[in-house]
Formats: sequence, structure tokens, C-alpha cells
Amino acid sequence: MAKKTTRRAPRRAAAPARPKAAKATKAARTRTATPARRARTPAARRAAGKRAVKHVYFFGQGKADGDRTMRDTLGGKGANLAEMTNAGLPVPAGFTISTDVCSIYYKEKGRIPASIDAEIRQNLQKLEKAAGTTLGAPGNPLLVSVRSGAKFSMPGMMDTILNLGLNDRAVEGLKARTENGRFAYDSYRRFIQMFGNVVLEIRKDVFEHEFEDVKRQTGATLDTDLDEAALREVVTRFKAVVKAKSGRDFPQDPRRQLAMARDAVFRSWMNPRAREYRRIYNIPDHIGTAVNVQMMVFGNMGDRCATGVGFTRNPATGANEFYGEFLINAQGEDVVAGIRTPQPIAALETVMPRAFKELRRITSRLERHYRDIQDFEFTVQDDHLYMLQTRNGKRTGYAAVVIATDLVAEKLIKPKDAILQIDPEALSQLLAPGFDAAEWNAIPVATTGLPASPGAASGHVVFHADDAVRWADEGKPVILVRRETVPDDIHGMFVAQGIVTATGGMTSHAAVVGRQMGKPSVVGAGELEINESTRQFQVGGRTVREGDFVSFDGLAGEVKLAKVASRPSEILQVLHGEMREQDSDIYRRFKQILTWSDAFRRLGIRANADQPDQAELAYAFGARGIGLCRTEHMFFGEGRIPIVQRMILATSEADRRAALAELLPMQRDDFYGVFKAMKGEPVTIRTIDPPLHEFLPKREELMVEIARLEERGTSGAELDEKRKLLHRVEQLHEFNPMLGHRGVRLGVTYPEITEMQTRAIIEAACQLAKEGLKVVPEIMIPLVGHVNELRDQKAVVDRIAAEVIRERGVKVKYLVGTMIEVPRGAMTADAVAEEAQFFSFGTNDLTQLTFGFSRDDIGKFLRIYQEKKILDKDPFATFDVDGVGPIVQTAVTLGRRTRPDIKLGVCGEHGGDPSSVHFFESVGLDYVSCSPYRVPVARLAAAQAALQVQVGD
Ligand code: PEP
Ligand code: MG
Repeated sequence: MAKKTTRRAPRRAAAPARPKAAKATKAARTRTATPARRARTPAARRAAGKRAVKHVYFFGQGKADGDRTMRDTLGGKGANLAEMTNAGLPVPAGFTISTDVCSIYYKEKGRIPASIDAEIRQNLQKLEKAAGTTLGAPGNPLLVSVRSGAKFSMPGMMDTILNLGLNDRAVEGLKARTENGRFAYDSYRRFIQMFGNVVLEIRKDVFEHEFEDVKRQTGATLDTDLDEAALREVVTRFKAVVKAKSGRDFPQDPRRQLAMARDAVFRSWMNPRAREYRRIYNIPDHIGTAVNVQMMVFGNMGDRCATGVGFTRNPATGANEFYGEFLINAQGEDVVAGIRTPQPIAALETVMPRAFKELRRITSRLERHYRDIQDFEFTVQDDHLYMLQTRNGKRTGYAAVVIATDLVAEKLIKPKDAILQIDPEALSQLLAPGFDAAEWNAIPVATTGLPASPGAASGHVVFHADDAVRWADEGKPVILVRRETVPDDIHGMFVAQGIVTATGGMTSHAAVVGRQMGKPSVVGAGELEINESTRQFQVGGRTVREGDFVSFDGLAGEVKLAKVASRPSEILQVLHGEMREQDSDIYRRFKQILTWSDAFRRLGIRANADQPDQAELAYAFGARGIGLCRTEHMFFGEGRIPIVQRMILATSEADRRAALAELLPMQRDDFYGVFKAMKGEPVTIRTIDPPLHEFLPKREELMVEIARLEERGTSGAELDEKRKLLHRVEQLHEFNPMLGHRGVRLGVTYPEITEMQTRAIIEAACQLAKEGLKVVPEIMIPLVGHVNELRDQKAVVDRIAAEVIRERGVKVKYLVGTMIEVPRGAMTADAVAEEAQFFSFGTNDLTQLTFGFSRDDIGKFLRIYQEKKILDKDPFATFDVDGVGPIVQTAVTLGRRTRPDIKLGVCGEHGGDPSSVHFFESVGLDYVSCSPYRVPVARLAAAQAALQVQVGD
């Protein structure tokens, strides 16, 4: 069997790619750096003392220094806190230390300049004035939270400290003020634990061990069973832990606590999980995080207190329903951390009607203000509502499409806004398969959890993130099952088909991250008794071990203990005529988004397809043309490989021509089918490209077969045949096949191959012309580095085309062009354009040849390159604007200089990557071409690119 190469797209149209991470369009053009790099920017230099620049922004009492437009400086959280304050919403006062300070912190090797320290002090005084007391004051202490907040939200990746300001005296003051000793000491022990872990880097389990010990000794089951005396004991033990592990007493000076906490938040920007998260989501390292210091309000002061999170619409399905959850008598992270399963937000109406009404009013206002779904955090302290955060909510791809189309229908936004609001990758999520209803329904439900992120998932159970990665590396689909996920699990979540947790609500870590990644997820499946250390869980009397199969439906929340096959998405069912358009709400919305996109985009969209069925699907997805038909893929078709091998093994031109004559009708039929499927839209057909040995068996395999035959004493035709084959394989062996006898070089040395392919193309076009379908084939010669190569091949094409046209007596127009994928071809594009009527940028090879990275071998070192921050992204997935970009730009300029109307497109994998599409728009290509399943993504990305380029983004 011929060797299958990894470098080429599969013969069948690829299944929808795993939804890729969210954008950072500008990030695509930024270089890798720690935040310190920015310290060399003018802002940082000024901060070094040349001119006073503002680094700290106050918000409180109805007025803020910043606003929502300042996300670069204040981070998303800080900008929204400022905006909410300005809007008169009940936001506890505080201040934001800007992201610039994070850069300075790194530049100054962990030191904050005195001038910035002074600015922080001034703002703290302002906060103390607003609060009417001072930080950690013994009688009535002001307590603050210290939270990270970068421009792009990174849920749970960085650190937070609550209750800062408490010390041995202030805790007594808090007790006196609240008349609640239990609450005061509970707050203090939480603070020591968080501070100890985040700032002093003492492992959490050391504190947890002491905590559990006190619980055991006092006979407590729940944390809330501990009384004040027990919590005092916990505090004493925690302070002893701090002393033993850090070698110093727990800091009692509140201002020192604040400085230490601030620095720890800056440090958490570079912790491994935050870096991994940024790598996955293409968020640049240099932007840094802001630090928000905000007056504490307490959701854990008793039964008139609560804390919660929510969304103005359902972030999983997009339905317009108030959505969220809360915990009575709980603090901050308890809801998000998934430690206790919270109550649905509707229940708040019954227990705290006034606060609920206020929350509804405020969040509806926020949604109208931001004109997008809001994800909010709130605290109720003694029946008073406080808003702690609002931001545009992360949502599934499904919800993104539903919400955007609803917001347009509600006249909150315009179609243009809807287009800009949807991450193009959302559309590929809609193409992911679901379960076959009959098969799914026949299997009993093992348990039902909360439907956190829709989609069908089936795979082997694994219990640890590292195991998920290991199994996935072996090519096995896995479902990550955990009691709860934590930010450190991010790498396992990324590779899993789906995520199931036993605890946590719809806004727990697993739910938020699952939705964001577009991973099906079920959370809070409380009946699962999971034992992560023995790698098994029990449910309904059955034990499921690592490696067993589970399947679940993230839209219904149902989990089943079986392997279940999936069925195509509704979108595909409609496109394949298996479902009526009017029966699929999501299809109509999907189509609406794409129709709107088409009105704004300038770039044409084509597909890379080599089979009529792929071409039909691409057309149905909206591709109007084929940008790349890899003719060699057709050589792998049924019954063809032996003929292709005969052609390769031929030792004379006559023998080679005989084999080619057999291939001719097959190729002609292929081309006929592809042209027909494209209904007369342009089709670019590339002449043979890969080195010929790719069609032959591997040398080692042949040697083994020969040895076996010899051992058996076989002789005769079969053995002779194999030996001949081995001889030819050895002749064709190349040290660097990618740089060897491939592309145009094959056509130059074996012109009869180009002749056969040209004949097949033109004959197919003539046949269709006779049938009334006009097609203008674009014949593309690959890997041209010198105009003379193209000239040689163009002569062959023109000669054969003229011959066929004469024979058939039909007038058919065609174009001859080239791929620009060799840097020399690009740099001499003015000369190449004398022969080429079009260029198609082969950015896969162009990237390979520009970096000198083999596209087949980069996997061996890419991860390390990314970890070491040598490369930000995989340049084969996201176009390298800085290095390959100027080469493309040069070729565009030179090509147009010679031939102003030259057609320009791209057919490398980057054609379907949204941030790369942005670049292709900016250099003015005519079209992008990508795999059929990426066509919807490319349509939307092209519209976004056109809109953003228009406004000069
Ligand atoms: C390319 O190099 O970008 C290209 C499209 O060709 P192939 O991937 O077939 O080498
Ligand atoms: Mg190529």
C-alpha cells in the first residue's frame, strides 16, 4: 500500500476541526514576550520617572476615573467596575492598579517604583475616606479583596485574595462590629489560608489537613458546623503553618499585606496554568494583568447574606432566560469553585425578593447598556445588593448564534454588530455531530447532571488531566470525569471529547471553561461517587473504571454508560436534504448569520476539494469556487494505485504513457464531477505535486516482504515483482523529499504527466460546455521558484489544450497560473506574473520554506518552542504575519505590477483560520480557500476582517 503522508489533507473532506480557541485578532500580530517587554514602551519609560503618568484608577461613590473603553489599561474587570460605578450601580468602592504596572513589575524584577507605591497609597486613603475607616483598623476594619483582571477574561487562572486587612486585632474589631465572632474568625482563617497559599506559596493541602483535623476533633461534619472557638483554633494552627513553612510570622501590617498580595497577583500572571490558558486562547503574554483592590462586602455574614453569579441569558443554549445560581451565607469563590452545589437563581426571588428584583432590574439595564449577554457576580449583605462584576458572557457556539440573532430581532444590535459579536469558530461547533436519537434513547440514563455545554461526547473515562493527555496522544477519545475541575486541569480539558463533574453548578469552572472551549460538558452530576485515586466511579450500583466507555449529551445533561455513535448536526442534515429548513431553528439562524456576513465581506470564499461530494458540500456551505483541487488525491482512488505505480515504475516513456492513458478517463471523470458540483464557478486544478515515492510502498516494508518470500523459498513472478519495486523505491529515495523531485519539477522531467492532466481537464470542460455548462478551468502549476519552470509547463498546457479544443470542436477558455509557495517565486513574482494569470499562495509550503521548519516534523519541537516562548503559535495553523507576511505582500505588489488584473488567492490551511483571514483581507487578496467544513467560518471571518479593516483595526 502506498505511504500515506501526513502533510496532505485527507482524501475525504475533513470532519469539522476541533473548535479552535477564541480569538485575539490583534494578538495574531504581536510577538511573544513577558509583560516586561512592554516596560520598554513609552508608558513604562514615563513611569520610570520622566513624567507623571496615571497608574491607579479610583472608582466609588458614583464616579470612576476610568470607563469601559479602557480595557487595555484597566483589564476587563477594572473597566467594567468603572463603567458600572459611573452608571450609578451599587458597586463597592475600590481602585484598579493598571496593567502597565504589571509590566513594570516584571521589568524591575519584582519591584514597584516608589512613585507608583505613593499613588497606590493615595488611592487607598481615598478608599478609606469613602469607607469611613482605615484598612485593618482595630475597631472597625476596612477589608478589601485583591483580584487579578486582564484585558481578556481568564477564569480562575490567576489569583485572588479576600478579607485582606485582617490581623489579630482587626478580627476582634470585625467581631465587635458584626456581633458575630464565628463570622469574624471564619473570615480570618480564610484570609490566612488564601494569603498563605497565594502569596507565601504554601500548599493548600497543608491548611486543609489542619482544618479537617479540627473538624474531626470537634465532631463537625460541615464547615459551617465549626463554632467560634473551633475557628479560633483553626486560626492558631494556620498561623503556625505559616511560621513553619515560610519561616516568618503571618504579616500583621495591613499595608504590607496589601503590597505582598498585589505582587503575588502580578506573579500569578506567569503561573503555568495562566500561560497554558493564554497559549490555548492566543492571548499575548505581554499585555499583563491589572489588580483590583475593592472594599469587601460579605455574603457570609448570616442568612440575610448571599453570593451568586449569573447570566442575563442562558449561555449554553442562548435562550432568553435569567440564569444563574447563588449560595446563602457564602463567600466569593464558593459558587465558582464548585465546592457546594448552589441553588438556581429563581429561588432567590423567594428568599430575598427585594434583592432579586433589584438584581433583575440592574442586569437588564447592563445588558441593554453593553448590548450583549452579561455574566455578573453579586453579593447580598444584609439584604443589600452589591454588584461585583459584569462582563460580556462567554457562551457556546450554539448560544452565540442564537443570542446574536435574537439581539438583532430585539433591535438591540444591528446585523453588523451581530457579525462582530460571534467568534467564527462558533460556527464550526454547530457542525459537530450529535447522537443518533434511536440508539441514544435505547440506552438507560445512568445519571443526569446540569447541561453545562451542549454537544454529544463519547469516550474512555479518565480521571486525571495528565491521563487525558496521555490517552489522547495515543489517539483515544477520552471523557474527563472529575469531582470538580480546577484551573490546573486545563490541558486535560482541552484534549478531552467532553467533561463530566460530580459537583459544581452552571457557572463552576468545568461549566465555564467547557462552554468556552466548545466542549460538551455535564456538571454537578451528584450521583457519581468518584474516587479519583483508585480511578473509578460508582453510579446506580455499577462501577466504572478508567478506560470504560461513557457517553453524554451536554444539552440534556444525561450520562450513559456505553459507547454511542453520533449523527450529523442539524445543519448538515438540512444541507444533505435529510431535514427541512423550516424544522431547524438553528439552521435558519446559522444561515441568517452567513447571509449577513456575505453582505459585508469583500473576499471571495472557495474550498479545497478533490471529490465531487466534497465540492457539493462546499457549495452548499457557500463556497463559490474551488481554490485547490489536489489531483494526486485522485490517484489514491479505488483501483488507481496499481496504475499509478505502473506509471512510476515505467522505465521508458512509452510505458509511462501507456499507464497515463489508463489514468486519463478516470481523471477526466473526476474533473467532470467537480466542475459540475461547482455549477460553473471557478475551479483551480493543480498538477501533480508530491514526490512520486509517496505512491509506492515503504522500502522497509518491501524488504520484510521479500525476506519472507525468500524464507518460504518462493520464487517466480511475485518475488521478481517485489524486487523490481524495491529497486525503483531505492532509486526514488531522496534525502529531503520535500525539497526534492516534486511539484513543477515532476512536470518538467515527465511532461507526459502534465499532458495527461491537461487533457483530462480540458476534455471534461469541453464535455460540460456541450452540455451547456460553461466552465473556465484554472490550471495551476505547483512549487514554482523560477519563471522558466512555469514557462516550460505553460507551453505544455497550451499545446495540449489547443489540441483538445481542436479535436472536440468546442471553445473552452482556461487560465494558467501558479502557486506561490517557494520564497524565490514570491520575490520574483513580477517575472512569474509574465506567465501566470493567477497566483494562489500555498502558505503551507511557504511557511515551511520560510522558517525552514518541516511541516511533518514540527510536532517534535513546537510545544517546547511554545513553552520557552520562542514561538507564540503554530505557524502552520496561524499565518506568520511578521515573517511570511512580507513575502506574501511582496508577491502581491510585484505580481500586480506586471499584471494589474492578476487573480490572487490563498489555498494553504491558513485560508480557514480567522486571524489569518484578517491578514489576507489587509493585503487585498481576491479570495481565500479552505476545507469545506471551514467555509462558514471563513465567510464570517472575512466579513469581520472587512469590517475591521474598514475601521482601521
Ligand atoms: C500549500 O503548500 O500551502 C498547499 C496548499 O499545498 P500542499 O499543502 O498540497 O503542499
Ligand atoms: Mg504546497
